[in-house]
Amino acid sequence: MTTEKHGFEAEVSRLLHMMVHSVYSDREIFLRELISNASDACDKLRYAGLTNADLIKDAGEFAIDIRLDKDTKTLTVSDNGIGMNKDDLISHLGTIARSGTSAFMENISGDEKKDVNLIGQFGVGFYSVFMVADKVEVLSRKAGEEQGYLWSSDGIGEYTISDAEKAGPGTSIMLHIKDDAEEFLEVMRLKNIIKTYSDHVTLPITLISKNDDKDAEEKETSEKVNDGTALWARPKTDITDEQYKEFYHHVAHAYDDPGMTIHYRAEGMIEYTVLLFVPSQQPMDLFDPARKTKVKLYVKRVFITDDCEDLLPSYLRFIRGVVDSEDLPLNISREMLQNNPVMTTISKAVTKRVLSELEKKQKKDREGYEKFWESFGAVLKEGIYEDFERRDQILKMSLFNSTEGDDLTTLEDYVSRMNEGQDTIYYITADNLAAAKRSPQLEGFKAKGIEVLYFVDPVDEFWLQMMPEFDGKKLASVTRGSADLDDKKDDEKDQENAPELDALIGVLKTNLGEAVKDVRKSNRLTDSAVCLVADDNDMDMHMERILKMHNKLDGAASARVMEINAENGLIKALASQAAKDGSVDALKDASLMLLDQARIIEGEVPEDPVAFAARLSKVMEESFK
Ligand code: ADP
Ligand code: MG
Repeated sequence: MTTEKHGFEAEVSRLLHMMVHSVYSDREIFLRELISNASDACDKLRYAGLTNADLIKDAGEFAIDIRLDKDTKTLTVSDNGIGMNKDDLISHLGTIARSGTSAFMENISGDEKKDVNLIGQFGVGFYSVFMVADKVEVLSRKAGEEQGYLWSSDGIGEYTISDAEKAGPGTSIMLHIKDDAEEFLEVMRLKNIIKTYSDHVTLPITLISKNDDKDAEEKETSEKVNDGTALWARPKTDITDEQYKEFYHHVAHAYDDPGMTIHYRAEGMIEYTVLLFVPSQQPMDLFDPARKTKVKLYVKRVFITDDCEDLLPSYLRFIRGVVDSEDLPLNISREMLQNNPVMTTISKAVTKRVLSELEKKQKKDREGYEKFWESFGAVLKEGIYEDFERRDQILKMSLFNSTEGDDLTTLEDYVSRMNEGQDTIYYITADNLAAAKRSPQLEGFKAKGIEVLYFVDPVDEFWLQMMPEFDGKKLASVTRGSADLDDKKDDEKDQENAPELDALIGVLKTNLGEAVKDVRKSNRLTDSAVCLVADDNDMDMHMERILKMHNKLDGAASARVMEINAENGLIKALASQAAKDGSVDALKDASLMLLDQARIIEGEVPEDPVAFAARLSKVMEESFK
């Protein structure tokens, strides 16, 4: 027999070091983690068996056994699930594959007290066994394979793997309990833990212990400990918040509190039960390009799959939980699920329900809704361009920041605050709130008391293309087209310095040539000297930058319109210069610097940074002569 030695991945070693030396008071969670893994393993085998019946030919009933032995001070958790072969053992129990675990590692501060609390918040899966055991042996055989393997480690630096005999497929995990953890060899203690954390697990969990009375006829006592009825199938009134929370942790592989719980049963033509959660924290994979939904599909209490594209739309991928159908066949495969009319009906109804629950929350618990929105608003808004039927509803539910203070606002509220005669909803798009707030294009709007919305999620650019209006009001970017901010007073002032300003505009156009589409007097600036805007029919500047960043844009960016502020000191000085002879050459550098300045304000780089620096140096030198 060969025994191979392997070193743990460096990150795992760090994690294990914490576990081994942990003084965490809720060490009992190791059992929750083992049971959760065992239950997942059984679900996986059952599902694999749908397409390959050979795999479950001899499987018998799926079950989890927990065996206590005070003599050898061992506790063994066994399942008859999918099992692991050698490669699986190396990749699953030697590295950090699990997203939650790497997030945990990122949060580790080095401060032991804080870090220990993180264990409770994240749960760190299999490795948590080393809080209570000084040696762990995993005996496993993968379904469909003959060879079994024994993985063994004391949690320090290394583990070994050797060939081993194992009767059926599945996994048996033996913990050699530490001296200070002998409480976990007590039947009562274990029963309690299982009731607390794993009561809802639908497989029978049986506790087996040796009889203390050596003369007793039976050498062992075994007892089924968990309730075993699916939590979602119980009446709501029988379920405590704590039980919902434990179930959420189990089903979502998450350790935050559920932000919202949606539990109901649909009756009628198609019957199904729904238990869904909105997390309170963003799951790690929220912005994965695959945009997969994670809700688990059950049929009559039997797990089918958690990879079911048709169950919920991608823009609800933050939702976790279970949908359990009474009408689908138990042996339904992934292929059969696609375009299945029952699935379509369920999906539509559940989507509708989730949105209406969120709407309810928005009305009844604004603070809670804002918290939800901060975590998941950007994802939900994807529905505005993806879900034709519900785009108006989702847009109505959307919250935005605006120039009116720090509170989030709905579009409806914006409309109710619109000035008399205002028929347009103004917005600015930017990479983040700070950048949006800095934009010079807002100056004139602020001065005139016109509210502007800040659209700062990349997704905003995309839904805007689909929704040119809201409630009959046009949506317009303040960085595009001409701003209708004129009033009489401005016009009068215009007359006074019109000739000089026209001269400057002429000089700028000559000097900047193709680099700008137009130069014009701005009525959206009150302080800054210049800004850039996109022409009416051109793409929004922020959108153009997003597309460029993702290499989605062929050819050069379109030339922008440069607007100058007639009231600005620098522009006035330049204007009086522009009226003089030879001003085109004299103002060459100034023209180019003005354009570069406008670009920098937009968060872009000057076209030729070296030339820009040289011109700036020259100006500074002049000013100190
Ligand atoms: P997670 O369960 O979140 O993936 P764990 O650390 O609990 O993280 O487990 C790591 C991986 O080890 C699991 O994803 C699974 O592939 C494998 N694993 C753990 N326990 C078992 C088991 N009893 N049967 C089969 N595979 C298991
Ligand atoms: Mg796990």
